[in-house]
Amino acid sequence: SGARIRRAQNKRLPQYLERGVDVKFTDVAGLGKIRLELEEIVKFFTHGEMYRRRGVKIPGGILLCGSPGVGKTLLAKAVAGEAGVNFFSISASQFVEIYVGVGASRVRSLYQEAKENAPSVVFIDELDAVGRKRGLIKGSGGQERDATLNQLLVCLDGFEGKGEVITIASTNRPDILDPALVRPGRFDRKIFIPKPGVIGRIEILKVHARKKPVAEDIDYELISSMTDGMVGAELANIVEVAAINMMRESRTEITTDDLLQAAQMEERGMLDRKERSREKWEQVALNEAAMAVAALCLPNIYDIEYITIAPRAGRELGYVRAQLNSIKFNDGMLTRQSLVDHITIQLAPRAADEIWFGKDQLSTIWAETADNARVAARMYMLGGLSEKHHGVSNFWLSDRINEIDLEALKILNSCYERATEIMQQNRKLMDAVVNELVEKKSLIKEDIVRLVQLHGLTKPKMPIS
Ligand code: ADP
Repeated sequence: SGARIRRAQNKRLPQYLERGVDVKFTDVAGLGKIRLELEEIVKFFTHGEMYRRRGVKIPGGILLCGSPGVGKTLLAKAVAGEAGVNFFSISASQFVEIYVGVGASRVRSLYQEAKENAPSVVFIDELDAVGRKRGLIKGSGGQERDATLNQLLVCLDGFEGKGEVITIASTNRPDILDPALVRPGRFDRKIFIPKPGVIGRIEILKVHARKKPVAEDIDYELISSMTDGMVGAELANIVEVAAINMMRESRTEITTDDLLQAAQMEERGMLDRKERSREKWEQVALNEAAMAVAALCLPNIYDIEYITIAPRAGRELGYVRAQLNSIKFNDGMLTRQSLVDHITIQLAPRAADEIWFGKDQLSTIWAETADNARVAARMYMLGGLSEKHHGVSNFWLSDRINEIDLEALKILNSCYERATEIMQQNRKLMDAVVNELVEKKSLIKEDIVRLVQLHGLTKPKMPIS
């Protein structure tokens, strides 16, 4: 039976494969000349033999550069779709996020899967999250990330020139990438995707209108002229919102007016993101500062690389979380203490909100992190890490589930108390981080270190039982 089990394991479903990717170049509008370059990538797959025979090297990696929402992901999918190959994707920020500490092993399994299912496209979103120049980050967080980056380099080298697995990565910051990544044979081909111009915007609007019941006399020129500076993601959204508007009014066709109204809403959203009131900025900054300060106090799992509240177009959330690097995981296994620390950090935004804005003024900005904490608390219980329920046997008994939830709640409560303690004891530092965040929108590690030196950092005494 050992063999059978092994075979079953070998057949496990690929984790990073995206099924049903059916994007074609005709789904990506406003590309102009870039299309030729992308068609060539497709040829690496379809006519690989021809390239090899003529001694033309097939690149291991292609870098798509451009602002968020210009269609980099869509293009990578279209390459896979046109070539008829499998599409594997991962966001590089996943390499460095919580529960990782195993970035390198994720990279390995990603490429393992891609190879087993070759030919395939491996798409790495936000490559800069893991591919920033080495040496910029000191300490073990940097080491962890370096291990991930090194693994990626090894994988890229393994496929160079073979044309069976081609990596496409996207980045908004090609300038900060580690030179080793852009060396010949790795990401040696850069394609810049600009924001669409007037014509490009018309084409993008039309591509998205194609799938919707639109009136025949839509004035695309007008809408294009109203959407200067917008990217594909925003234009796609405009068509969606217009369709909803039509449905709401029980009409059967989208009109120019629907699109105009939707464009105005999108525009206002953009402005909101750019020109939030000082209060809004502070609220967002408080949320991020709380996680950062809590992580500084509990340095067992995270290493802060940078914090930002800068809005990013084309993303659902207008701002990025504190970038947290996992460090002291033992081969990716979570220890009891690190999980408790993680929960505390995730609850810090909620604790800060209550302290700074008071119970009546609470926002829901912390909802996401609070939810992370809840999930982690359950994991803590199911992992058999609690004093009362250690060992595997207990949590499989279904009549204990309720009890487990109650225990999880207790953990959440004591972590919340500890988060509150951290926030209260570091008010000066918190205020300083919030102020500087609102001022500069982004803080790098050096800024944070400076603020800690200036205002001190008080770590919690209260142990968690
Ligand atoms: P990026 O990866 O550059 O951040 P995405 O590829 O994720 O952007 O774009 C998000 C969505 O916006 C796409 O799924 C698509 O609906 C729309 N979009 C973006 N650019 C284009 C384009 N050039 N043509 C058509 N749709 C686009």
